[in-house]
Parts: sequence; C-alpha cells; structure tokens
Amino acid sequence: MAKLPIRDLNVVRSEQVTPNMQRITLGGTELHNFPKNHEGAWIALLFPQAGDTKVHKPRLLQAKSKQPRRRYYTIKNFNEETKELTIDMVLHGGLLHTGVASNWARKCRKGDNIVIAGPHLRKANKPAQMIDKDAAWFFLIGDMTALPAVICNIKLLPQNAKGYVIIEICNESDKQELQCPNGIEIHWLINPHPSQRNHNLANKVKSLPWLTGIPSIWSACEQSTMYQLRYYFNEDRNVNLKENYIVSYWKIGQ
Ligand SMILES: Cc1cc2nc3c(=O)[nH]c(=O)nc-3n(C[C@H](O)[C@H](O)[C@H](O)COP(=O)(O)OP(=O)(O)OC[C@H]3O[C@@H](n4cnc5c(N)ncnc54)[C@H](O)[C@@H]3O)c2cc1C
Repeated sequence: MAKLPIRDLNVVRSEQVTPNMQRITLGGTELHNFPKNHEGAWIALLFPQAGDTKVHKPRLLQAKSKQPRRRYYTIKNFNEETKELTIDMVLHGGLLHTGVASNWARKCRKGDNIVIAGPHLRKANKPAQMIDKDAAWFFLIGDMTALPAVICNIKLLPQNAKGYVIIEICNESDKQELQCPNGIEIHWLINPHPSQRNHNLANKVKSLPWLTGIPSIWSACEQSTMYQLRYYFNEDRNVNLKENYIVSYWKIGQ
C-alpha cells in the first residue's frame, strides 16, 4: 500500500444508480496523471481512524493506530478529458450501520474531501485480472459489490461469447441493464439479506449446464460463497484455480 500513489480528491457528483448502489464521481488536480485504461482495477478509499479528523498518509513502518482505514473499490470509469474518476458503491446495512465507506457514500456531498490510494497494478503492470477473451466460454459471477467489475469484464467479451452472468442483488430494482453478447445468459438472484450466510449464489452456479471446452471464470463475492465456488470449480469441475479469478470482496461480520 505504501507504494501506491496517494491522491487528495473531492466529490464532484453523487448519484443514485439503483436503490442500493450510489455512483460517486471524484475530481481534483491530483488526477492529472491518473493512468488511463484501468477500468476494472481497484483503488482504496482512505478514511481516518475513529476519533481522528484527517487521514495520515500511509508510510512504511507506520503505527497501526495511525494507519488510515482502507476500503477497496473498482474503477468504473476514468474520463481522460474531464479527469473524473467514477466508482459505484453498495449502500449496505441501513442508516445505523458501521461501514465507514458505505456510510460515507450515503452522506457525501459535492466538494467533500476524500483521499485515495492506487490504482493497484498487478504483475507486469497489468491493471486487473480480467477474463481470458480467448476462452471457449465464460462464467461471470458476483454479488452487488462485484457488479462494477463484472460490467467492465462484459465489455471485453467477444461478440460470439457463450456462457453465463450470474449476479446477486439486494432488490429487484437493483438490476442494471447489461449489454451482453446474445450467447450469454443473464441470471439475477435477489437476496435482501446478503450479510446472512447462504448458498444461493453457489447453488445457482452449480445448477447451470456445463458447456463444452475450458471456461474463463471471473467471480467476486462474500468470502463464504467464494469458498463454495472454489470448491465446486476445483473439486467437481477440475478447474485450475490459478488461471481463474475467484476471490472474496468482503466478509460477513468484518
Ligand atoms: C478488489 C475489490 C474491489 C471492490 N470493489 C467494490 C465496488 O466497486 N463497489 C462496492 O460497493 N464494493 C466493492 N468492494 C467491496 C467493499 O470494499 C466492501 O464491501 C467493504 O467492506 C465496504 O466497506 P464498509 O466500510 O462499507 O464496510 P466495513 O466496515 O468493511 O464492514 C462493516 C460491516 O458491513 C459488512 N459488509 C461489508 N460489505 C458489505 C456488503 N456489500 N453487503 C453487506 N454487508 C457488508 C461487513 O461484514 C461488516 O459487518 C470491493 C472489494 C475488493 C477487495
């Protein structure tokens, strides 16, 4: 984290995308050298420790009590012309909730300050691990936190792509329009209680017919569901986990 560029930004706009998803657009002079083509990679929003009023910028060997609280978000868009950075943030947990990032997304207003770190670069300076466009077919799986990244991946699919997009959302009205090739089946699952352990997403994935050839799998969700999916793909379908992206974006109770 200490090596990631740190930028002091301001909120330019906050718009409701769907009832549980807020789109926050950030701007500021420190975005002048933000790299292009990093949609799908993550940045960290840095929040002060409880009781602190400002973010102490991360440094090596910094005392834990001084380190900012970090929350990770997917770059949905960076507009090179206007130098504006957009992220979509799930509003989880209701008004009395403790999630510092979700609360901030709910309340932030134009002009509010926010410090970010990133974008994160993977090996060989690749911004993010995305689907393998040359695969025989595709699985794109996620809960609402992964929806921004799933949309970035959908944009990479070839026109003749076959496979599935499976997204768990909190509410019927959290569906977003997805521009998928005709051969991709879209499945929305409604789960108003994402913070209760369940098997819905994994069971849906398991119920879908396995197609011919080796798929490219991209999946991000809550940790216990991630384990269910890894087990299914690895044990039941003999998928090489190292060549696919099956990760957790958050953990119930943490
Ligand atoms: C690489 C990466 C990219 C991500 N991209 C996005 C993104 O683009 N958009 C996005 O919204 N999220 C994204 N996330 C997930 C986001 O970072 C987490 O949901 C984060 O925990 C939210 O922080 P918070 O401060 O609101 O809640 P925290 O303080 O982390 O958690 C407080 C409580 O809320 C619960 N909680 C956290 N997230 C959720 C949730 N989604 N639903 C229900 N309960 C929850 C926790 O279990 C805990 O009990 C991403 C995560 C990673 C690792």
